[in-house]
Amino acid sequence: MTPSAYLDAHSADMLALLRRLVRLATVNPPGCDYDAITSLLVRELTARGLRARRFPIPKALAKKYLPPEQLAFPRYNVLGTWRVPGATRTIHFNAHYDVVPVGGEWRHGNPFSGALDGGWIYGRGTADMKGSIASLLLALEALRATRTRPRLNIEVSFTADEETDSVLGAGWLVQHAPIHPDFAIVMEGGERGTVCCGHNGVVWLEVTVHGRAAHGSRPERGINALEKMAALVRALDDYRRMLARRTLVTPSGATMHPTINVGGVFAQGPGAKINTVPALARFTIDRRVLAIETVATAERELHAFLAAAARRIPQCRITVEKISDNHPCFTKPGGCRRSFLP
Ligand SMILES: [Zn+2]
Repeated sequence: MTPSAYLDAHSADMLALLRRLVRLATVNPPGCDYDAITSLLVRELTARGLRARRFPIPKALAKKYLPPEQLAFPRYNVLGTWRVPGATRTIHFNAHYDVVPVGGEWRHGNPFSGALDGGWIYGRGTADMKGSIASLLLALEALRATRTRPRLNIEVSFTADEETDSVLGAGWLVQHAPIHPDFAIVMEGGERGTVCCGHNGVVWLEVTVHGRAAHGSRPERGINALEKMAALVRALDDYRRMLARRTLVTPSGATMHPTINVGGVFAQGPGAKINTVPALARFTIDRRVLAIETVATAERELHAFLAAAARRIPQCRITVEKISDNHPCFTKPGGCRRSFLP
């Protein structure tokens, strides 16, 4: 039997495994069920003949990078290796196992049930990216079961925290795990059969607008932070227009622009009440960074824009804090050596 015939014959197994993975609600933040899913993934890799290890993130390191309310949720990364006799190079497959929290209405019951409807699985993380994990595990199984020897050593990592900042997930792996890849494939979900050569970076900022509290019956005595924030958010339209003029054409011919998303999180200050002038308003900015930019220049540019916009708004005082960033990357499509392709 060929590996591809094996895949066809066992697609039901893959779907069953995918539904098992979806039922583990690895929601991040805060980082639920990481223990359960990484234990399962180590077992699945071992069952396919890989040497598999689970690396718990040391408490001291977690303390350094996680907010205090997440310290009760330990982080783990999983590494599997398959040394192939005679192979001199190594390919690394990476997937993250965490998923974003669920928002809004879910039309298919519990988002972690893995419900089937009309031939589709509906569940948080099915595409991003537990589907990739299940596919990879079946692919490894197909190679073993059909005694197909890969031309490259294989490394597999399943990492935490991609939906936040990856520092204790893929970031930890690159810095601390015994990996030696010559090639790497990030099996990020949602791209169907497309192979992408890179990804955007991000800069996440939190903008706080400082006003002055007053009684709601005498609003002229206060400085309304919400109104100042609204003016600042409107001013960001100019920045958005500027970004729309900046383009990157991908190897597949798609034109991309940097983007900003405003107010994924927004909040008022403490003690807010209907009859008070809000003294504080806060919102986040999610700036996506193209591979032709850098995180540092994008951050500087956005800071400068916000400062200039705030200066133009009377009595608008702001402070800006960085929540996190992540670098963009790009590899030329011709960078892969042909001799290692099937
Ligand atoms: Zn993802």
